[in-house]
Amino acid sequence: MNKISLFTIAFAGITMLSCNNSKQGIGIKLENLDTSAVPGDDFFQFADGGWNAAHPLTDEYARFGSFDQLAEDNRQQLKGLIDDIVAADNEPGSNAQKIADLYKLVLDTARRDREGLRPIRTWIKKIEDVKDRNEIFPLMVELDINGLAGNYFGIGIGADMMDSKSNLVSVGQGGLSLGEKEYYLDTDEATTAIREAFKKHIVRMFTLCGFDENTAQKKMEDVMLIETRIAEKSYSAVQQRDPAANYHKMSFADLKKDFKGIDWQMMFDKLGIGDCDFVDVGQPEPIHEVEAILAEVPVEAHKALMEWQLIDHAASRLTTELDQANFDFYGKVMSGRQEQQPWWKRATSTVSGVLGEAIGQLYVEKYFPASSKERMVTLVKNLQIALGERIDAQDWMSDSTKAYAHTKLDAFYVKIGYPDKWKDYSKLEIDPAKTLFENNIAVSRFFWQDAVERKYKKPVDNTEWFMTPQTVNAYYNPTTNEICFPAGILQYPFFDMSADDAFNYGAIGVVIGHEMTHGFDDQGRQFDKEGNFADWWAEGDADKFKEHVQVIVDHFNGIKVLPDLNGNGELTLGENIADHGGLMVAYQAFKNATKDAPLETVNGFTPEQRFFMAYAGVWAGNIRDEEIRNRTKSDPHALGRWRVNGTLPHIDAWYDAFGITEDNALYLAPEKRARIW
Ligand SMILES: [Zn+2]
Repeated sequence: MNKISLFTIAFAGITMLSCNNSKQGIGIKLENLDTSAVPGDDFFQFADGGWNAAHPLTDEYARFGSFDQLAEDNRQQLKGLIDDIVAADNEPGSNAQKIADLYKLVLDTARRDREGLRPIRTWIKKIEDVKDRNEIFPLMVELDINGLAGNYFGIGIGADMMDSKSNLVSVGQGGLSLGEKEYYLDTDEATTAIREAFKKHIVRMFTLCGFDENTAQKKMEDVMLIETRIAEKSYSAVQQRDPAANYHKMSFADLKKDFKGIDWQMMFDKLGIGDCDFVDVGQPEPIHEVEAILAEVPVEAHKALMEWQLIDHAASRLTTELDQANFDFYGKVMSGRQEQQPWWKRATSTVSGVLGEAIGQLYVEKYFPASSKERMVTLVKNLQIALGERIDAQDWMSDSTKAYAHTKLDAFYVKIGYPDKWKDYSKLEIDPAKTLFENNIAVSRFFWQDAVERKYKKPVDNTEWFMTPQTVNAYYNPTTNEICFPAGILQYPFFDMSADDAFNYGAIGVVIGHEMTHGFDDQGRQFDKEGNFADWWAEGDADKFKEHVQVIVDHFNGIKVLPDLNGNGELTLGENIADHGGLMVAYQAFKNATKDAPLETVNGFTPEQRFFMAYAGVWAGNIRDEEIRNRTKSDPHALGRWRVNGTLPHIDAWYDAFGITEDNALYLAPEKRARIW
């Protein structure tokens, strides 16, 4: 056993413990570590064990990590801004008035308890009054437009992946209350238990809405019948990762001909897009199944489904009893959470969701310094150079593919902090005289109308932001070839103006590299520099790429996330490639940035070690078993623990930094490590 490096670390640990000052300019907080753990055996425990022990899960959370801590801090800041607005005298119709009234409406649970079921009664009556099969779909569309149901499928307007400068109407699978098809079909013990609890939940919600037990039971069976039929034909989350398999563009005339069982003209007219030319049907099979369901399933079953969707959508905006029942299933059963968030947090999230850029504008004015933006611009530039070097360093890729990869990399459209122009909410009305339920209808109608006005038959506006400035996240969008880093993520533990390059390249640097690598992951690589789905790979290069990424698929498939559950290497492939590339590129950029003035060892940790510790620090966190199961079905990201312990064993520099050998539990022989970017 080679213990030398382990002793070095342990010794460093002892040194640190006597050193009580965590503000070293290295960014790493020593109390977040667990230096009794061996880095090569469990790096997650070594780098994050202290943080995890100091932040046990509270009842409110299914998962809580350093990421979530930052989101909590941001929410506190938003609350401060909202409190000031609520206390002020706001001009009617101004964004401030809308923010204040929406916030107060969410907080007013006493009012909702007084109103009881009154807000949904007229809608239930409309559904109960349906006698004829022909009335079913028009009513479902009306519910959908008002944000009161999810319909049997989804509809949207966005960039056409074959013509990325133009917007296109798309129709996609939907209609599943539980999101993923597996919840309806899998027969393992854990999934079966969730499905049985879901059935009980539907019955409970119907009885709370005034239906007797027998009727509620019958309605539940009808809901399950329809949702299970849709689930059987739906694409899995893995199937949905294949862009070509989820694109079927046709003329509107052909849509009406090929999917006769659905009254598209009526629906599109109501949506304000009745003179549409083309439509992309993402997943034809489940839409065909909806045709069959509309034709075959008894009218009473459709009524049950509409009522269920109405109750399910509205529950959190009705009485506290319904809200709690809703949480008992989606919060407790699905995620393992034990208690709801306090109302002020929920109200803040609602405001941030509905008026995200209005409150976001105030947020960046107060909390996002210009200096952060400047440093980010430099970091992004350096990462771009490093990714270019990484592309050139690959021996499996031909020169012509490399040359095009460079042009795509150079064409990245970079967004940092906040949008140049703010969203216009002038047509959104928030009326404090109306119920929260009614205001939500106005919100739903506003967002659809806004999308139609801005996008329908219009070119793509690439200045649009798909995240608000206060969001703790980042994204890559293949159809605009853009990377976006909202102000919310440009803070500790991702970014620290007072910390050195080892920290910032290891944390936010990897995030930047991660988003850039998405442009070259198994999905992103299929899009060209203009954002069009087009093959720019030379003959044979794509096969080599697939061989290399299969190493990552197999590795993550082999990870036991729970004793009876493995990770999903196919579902998480794009994110795992992005983490791998992010680390490779950020490490190279870090080395470039410090080559003339190398950083020193501090507290016994070399700069290279601190780079990887900063990376792991982003993924500190605890999670419940229920949430592990939930995310393994639906989340394309690996769990935090495995973004550390699953990803780092494929990075050569990590072995060198910590002296990791074949005697360590996380060790992979060099030929078993992924070699992609
Ligand atoms: Zn990602």
